[in-house]
Amino acid sequence: MSAYGSDRFDCDVLVIGGGIVGLSTAYAVTRAAPGTRVVVLEKERGPARHQTGRNSGVIHSGIYYRPGSLKARYAVRGAAEMVKFCAEYGLPHEVTGKLIVATERAELPRLHALVQRGRENGIPVRELGPAQITEYEPRVRGVAAIHVGTTGVCDYGAVAAQLAEASRADIRYGAEVVAVDRRPWGVAVRTADGTIVRGGVLVNCAGLHCDRVARLAGDDPGMRIVPFRGEYYELARPELVRGLVYPVPDPAFPFLGVHLTRGIDGGVHVGPNAVPALGREGYGWSVVRPRELAGTLAWPGSWRIARRHWRYGAGELHRSVSKRAFTEAVRRLLPSVGPEDLHRAPAGVRAQAVLRDGTLVDDFLIREARRTVHVLNAPSPAATASLPIGREVARRALAHLG
Ligand SMILES: Cc1cc2nc3c(=O)[nH]c(=O)nc-3n(C[C@H](O)[C@H](O)[C@H](O)COP(=O)(O)OP(=O)(O)OC[C@H]3O[C@@H](n4cnc5c(N)ncnc54)[C@H](O)[C@@H]3O)c2cc1C
Repeated sequence: MSAYGSDRFDCDVLVIGGGIVGLSTAYAVTRAAPGTRVVVLEKERGPARHQTGRNSGVIHSGIYYRPGSLKARYAVRGAAEMVKFCAEYGLPHEVTGKLIVATERAELPRLHALVQRGRENGIPVRELGPAQITEYEPRVRGVAAIHVGTTGVCDYGAVAAQLAEASRADIRYGAEVVAVDRRPWGVAVRTADGTIVRGGVLVNCAGLHCDRVARLAGDDPGMRIVPFRGEYYELARPELVRGLVYPVPDPAFPFLGVHLTRGIDGGVHVGPNAVPALGREGYGWSVVRPRELAGTLAWPGSWRIARRHWRYGAGELHRSVSKRAFTEAVRRLLPSVGPEDLHRAPAGVRAQAVLRDGTLVDDFLIREARRTVHVLNAPSPAATASLPIGREVARRALAHLG
């Protein structure tokens, strides 16, 4: 018998997706309401095989996000909680701090705006001149920079695996949900091998596929996932960079611009860029999923983004296909790098929600329908913020059970 007093279903909370958001939700449910039966269905053979296991591994401070937004609140809180979680379970992590570097004077107003934003979000920020930049990063060049103290690195794949274990949920791998049926008492889902699993409330944390899962459930999500691949190079001479070095972001696209990230394994990743992926799990130009691509192209929002942001897109595409162009972008921050220093590394694909009018959904987006909670936009910094996001999704899911 479950905490909710019914044996009509196989579980109380049925989560689709074994990425960090789904697993954090399972963890939060079992902590908030012990005895609640949670099943997580994940289509891959293990946890974190998509966004969660293919990212930069940065514990973001929350400096970029609009004060008061879910991203700002959950990232600031989530960063501190992530460090604590890693320490508690002995997972590799480090609070390294990071530099955001202006390479031209024209970027200074945006750098100062970032200082202001950081302070509004309660983040410790230190302003640096060129000489102080070299104290942190001897090989990096810039006209000014800021040092953000609370940024760190960890291994989100390891965090996800730990959340899975600590949640004590029933996690079923190799279980792709292909149909969802609403019932008066909850939901029943069918997996690709024909198994039926019944739950009191459905939680959709399907990442790159969350809009499809919402539609399987009969809900109109009002958005589509447009997949953007983020490509990386690995620095052959990691000693050129001590920690994390970022350019001044464009407020419209804080995830763009070449970053240098020393990961928890000591290697330095350069990237990610952002280019359209030709499939939701399109990790290279050779991966093309015609049906998924047709779905993206049929969404009016995709064309509107292309019209609005073609100039950015063209630059990103050029750097994707031309190593020389990519190297030039890196050299603005790190002049001693040459093309021979950069080796291709595995890419990730971001699940970016796009509205019909072409708006890129900026904040995290959680929508509810009868006996269902859909997580429809959980891009970066959702790994950093996964513990607070999981608690919020769990709170909403439990409220459906009454
Ligand atoms: C290139 C890149 C760099 C990033 N860098 C950072 C960073 O440094 N710091 C940070 O905080 N965030 C970063 N992010 C963002 C972060 O990785 C994501 O926000 C986070 O991993 C989202 O987790 P998720 O659980 O929502 O999605 P995912 O990890 O994609 O998990 C979704 C899961 O659902 C499963 N699934 C889908 N459909 C079904 C189905 N029908 N049935 C069963 N299972 C299904 C998938 O197999 C998958 O495992 C980055 C993302 C990318 C792509």
